[in-house]
Amino acid sequence: MYDLLIKNGTVVTHEGCGQWDVAVKDGKIAAVGSRGTFADAETQEVLDAADLLVMPGLIDPHVHIMHPFRDRFAADDFYSATVAAACGGDTMVLDFAIQWDKSMDLSETAEHRKRQFEEGAVIDYAFHACPTISEMETVEQVPKLIEAGVPSFKLYMTYSKQGRMSDDGVIYEVLRQTAEKGGIAGVHAENDAMCLFNTELYRRNGWNSPHYFPLCKGNLVEAEAVNRVVYMNRAAGGNLYIFHLTTEESLEVVREARARGERVTAETCVHYLVLNADCYDRPDGANFICSPPLRSPEDTEALWNGIRQGLISVVSSDHCGFTKELKALGNNEFAGTPNGLPGIELRLPVLYTAGVKSGKISVSKLVEILSTNAARTFGMYPQKGTIACGSDADLVLVDTKQVKTISPEVLHSPVDWSPYDGMELCGFARTVLSRGKFVVRNGEFCGERGAGRFVSRTIDR
Ligand SMILES: [Zn+2]
Repeated sequence: MYDLLIKNGTVVTHEGCGQWDVAVKDGKIAAVGSRGTFADAETQEVLDAADLLVMPGLIDPHVHIMHPFRDRFAADDFYSATVAAACGGDTMVLDFAIQWDKSMDLSETAEHRKRQFEEGAVIDYAFHACPTISEMETVEQVPKLIEAGVPSFKLYMTYSKQGRMSDDGVIYEVLRQTAEKGGIAGVHAENDAMCLFNTELYRRNGWNSPHYFPLCKGNLVEAEAVNRVVYMNRAAGGNLYIFHLTTEESLEVVREARARGERVTAETCVHYLVLNADCYDRPDGANFICSPPLRSPEDTEALWNGIRQGLISVVSSDHCGFTKELKALGNNEFAGTPNGLPGIELRLPVLYTAGVKSGKISVSKLVEILSTNAARTFGMYPQKGTIACGSDADLVLVDTKQVKTISPEVLHSPVDWSPYDGMELCGFARTVLSRGKFVVRNGEFCGERGAGRFVSRTIDR
């Protein structure tokens, strides 16, 4: 006897599409069969998925919940952020255990993050360990975190002034250790010295408005850092993840590395695929300040090519929910404006509309970049990221027909604006199951605070 049968839908995985029915039992996918395989008498409940796509639950491997700015925080907490994620089709998010409090070591920081999630999360979660101390003690933490089921790391190559940067000695050593012990080292790649020099140069010249932001942090700032860390990764024999890659130049570095057979995985974010630097000339341009900056239409096109060619494997939201009020604290100057864009709920409809509907990518590719590749890269596959016997029954049923115009009212986040406001999108999550339980039903959230679980992960050496 099954708990649930999902019938009459079109199942989509990274491998293709099919008219399959899916049987769920005890939170797992128990069987997948061609349409009509299972009888209604074999199950407690039948869910009719006619006209819907049935995808593996989506995984957003790059979100920032309650990110601080000065003495304030981004608007959404662990409950509201995961509610919004679930309503966007996510069944798992990965956030960051950032060592803001330097008196806590990285393992304690991770434990603290876990407790914060435990209280609020409505879907499953994990996080990347993110050190802010560039010392031997950081490197010594690597095996401990891998042992604790946190085998992914994020190292900032910039933000020295904010006390977050890892220097190259530590980055090289983390690359080496993660490769040796089974993990992955991720980087925020921007050349710190160039960022500092340019910021001062622009300040002296009075070039403070958002318009100057993508010029101040030009393509070279990112591409040089990508090139440097790829070189270090080659020497270390490492497993490198590049968070939010945005430029054509960086993509070329990745192309060459992968052609040499090196382990380099690149991610971009939704906003770099559908928005460009023109946004900084809008009256609300300061809201669009994020690092790296939005780029040229040529870069955007290169990123879509990168996805089609498999050079960019993952598309995240890099969600960071600063309200308009917090964005305005920068007085319309890019240097003082908090960095980051909200977007946790809109990966699926934005990419379905701009990617699949426009003919840029297939729907299987969409599943790959929104779910499967994150699961593979960060050590959750095949528990998550696919629809197969034994996998968690994390599923999203997608309505490709209904069109909605984006505004804060149609979203579930407490953030009072969206970079996608006014866009007409389709491809929304209709129903979402997390380990077999409904968290969204017919577009309505019906999950439970604290129901999400920490996902312990292992990554192959
Ligand atoms: Zn980020």
